Amino acid sequence: MNPEAVRKHFEGTGALLSGHFKLSSGLHSDRYLQCAKVLQWPARAEALGAALAAKLSAFSPTVVVSPAMGGLIIGQEVGRGLGCRAIFAERTEGVFTFRRGFALEPGERVVVVEDVVTTGKSTREVFDLVRSVGAEVVATSGIVDRRGAEIGKPIDSVPAAFLLELDVPAWKPEACPLCAKGEPVVAPGSRFLAQKA
Ligand SMILES: [Zn+2]
Repeated sequence: MNPEAVRKHFEGTGALLSGHFKLSSGLHSDRYLQCAKVLQWPARAEALGAALAAKLSAFSPTVVVSPAMGGLIIGQEVGRGLGCRAIFAERTEGVFTFRRGFALEPGERVVVVEDVVTTGKSTREVFDLVRSVGAEVVATSGIVDRRGAEIGKPIDSVPAAFLLELDVPAWKPEACPLCAKGEPVVAPGSRFLAQKA
């Protein structure tokens, strides 16, 4: 699946909006990305998962590990595409752990799969968890790479495969060119809505 086809999945479901947005970080941007809007469609999620699986199969993974919540659905679909199991890590008191009886065997070949990678922080934390039980991280992956200057690079020397690279600018409100033009700002996303309520 080429990046243009991926972009169509996002734009066709309202998962990638253009306009003037206040992000949960407080920064302003002219793009807004909400992966859940595309992944709510199982057929689209399956197609994206199959495309990632095609990029990952050369690493011969035996299990997909995703960080909850963002990586859950796409991780499941990548597992389907690879024909292997898919498990997820959850934060307990801020630290990723395996719950629900999930476990890795020493030497298992793991791909870490997320929806969007922005800083790579949670990706690295899942690497640490996988390695702490003696399994091997052979590759990492996500639908969208929005790591700014790091786009397209490995994550801590682990090969990284993405379907779409998105270099989205974000500005402090006082430096925002859209504010300077007087365009009204909107704040999508549940975190801000919860604050307003
Ligand atoms: Zn602005």
